[in-house]
Amino acid sequence: MLADTTVYQEMLRALPGRVSAGEPMKEHTSWRIGGPADVFVQPANREELRLVVAHVNQWGIPLTIIGAGTNILVPDEGIRGVVVKVGSGLDRISLQEHMIVAESGARLSRVAAAARDAGLGGFEFSSGIPGNIGGAVVMNAGANGVSIQARLKKILLLSPAGHFSIKTKDEIDFGYRTSSLQKDSSIVVEALFSCFQKDKDRIKQEMDAFNRRRKKTQPLHYPCAGSIFKNPPGDTAGRLIEAAGLKGTRIGDAQISTLHANFIINLGAATARDIMMLVEKTRELVLERFGIELKPEVKVVGY
Ligand SMILES: Cc1cc2nc3c(=O)[nH]c(=O)nc-3n(C[C@H](O)[C@H](O)[C@H](O)COP(=O)(O)OP(=O)(O)OC[C@H]3O[C@@H](n4cnc5c(N)ncnc54)[C@H](O)[C@@H]3O)c2cc1C
Repeated sequence: MLADTTVYQEMLRALPGRVSAGEPMKEHTSWRIGGPADVFVQPANREELRLVVAHVNQWGIPLTIIGAGTNILVPDEGIRGVVVKVGSGLDRISLQEHMIVAESGARLSRVAAAARDAGLGGFEFSSGIPGNIGGAVVMNAGANGVSIQARLKKILLLSPAGHFSIKTKDEIDFGYRTSSLQKDSSIVVEALFSCFQKDKDRIKQEMDAFNRRRKKTQPLHYPCAGSIFKNPPGDTAGRLIEAAGLKGTRIGDAQISTLHANFIINLGAATARDIMMLVEKTRELVLERFGIELKPEVKVVGY
C-alpha cells in the first residue's frame, strides 16, 4: 500500500493536514460516487501543488487531478496512486480593469459573480455551471451558446516535473466540450480572462434567467454530473435518449432522469458500475434506433 511507504510519510510531513490515505472519493464528486484514493492531497497554495506534483513524478506514482468533481466518474474500486484536488487554497480571484485572473481552484460561479459585481460582461453564459476554473478550461465548459474559450486569454500551467509555464489561447486547441489540455499531463494553475463593460443589472437579469431555466429543466435535487453525452451535430443527446424510450430507465440506484434524459441521477446508493452499465445501455440503444453514436462528456478518472 502506498500509504505504508516513505513517499506518503514524506508528504504527510511536508503538508500536514492536507494529505490523507483511503479518502472516499464519493465525498469529492457531485455524483456522490467513487471508491477510496490511495493518497489524497489538497494543496493550500501553488508551491504546495508544485511540491506534490514533482515528488509524485520523481517516484513514478500515478497522479490524478480533480477540481470540483462535477464532471467525473470515479470507479467503485477507487483510484490508485495520488489524487490531487485543486480547490480551496488555490482559489484567488483578482480583477484589473476588464481582465480577471482566477486560480484554477476558484469556482466558476464565483468568477461570474465577481465579473457581474464589477459590471463586467462575458461570464453570463456560465450561470449555474458548478465546476472550478481548471476543470472549466480543460473541458471548455459552456452553455447558452458560449463556452469559456471565448473569454480566455492565457493560462499558467504546471508540468509533471514541477515547472511553471504560460500558454496563450492560440496555443490551445478548443472544441465542443474539449481542449488539447485533456491530452496534456500538465495542470492548469491559473487563467486570465478578458471581459467587457456591461450594465450590472442587465448581467444579473440574464444570469437569473439562465438559472431559472436550469432549475426547471435539470434534476438539480439529485446527485448528478451534468450532461452525460455530448450533443451530436444537429441534434441533442437528450432528445435521442428520450425518443429511444429510455427516460426513467434504472439500473440499481442509477436512473436516467425523467426531467432531462441526458442526465443520470444517483437515487441514493448508485455505484460507478450501475452508471457505466446505464451509459452503455443508452449508447447501444440510441445507436441501434437512430444510427448515431453518442460520445460521453463525463470523464472516467483514475488508475
Ligand atoms: C448539475 C450540473 C450541471 C452542469 N452543467 C454544465 C453545463 O451547462 N455546461 C458544461 O460545460 N458543463 C456542465 N457541467 C459539468 C461540469 O460542471 C463542468 O464540466 C466543469 O467545468 C467541470 O469542472 P470541475 O472542476 O468539476 O472538473 P472535474 O470534474 O473535477 O474534472 C473534469 C476534468 O478536468 C480535469 N481537471 C480538473 N481540474 C484540472 C486542473 N486544474 N488542471 C488540469 N486538469 C484538470 C480532470 O482531471 C477531469 O479530467 C454540469 C455539471 C453538473 C453537476
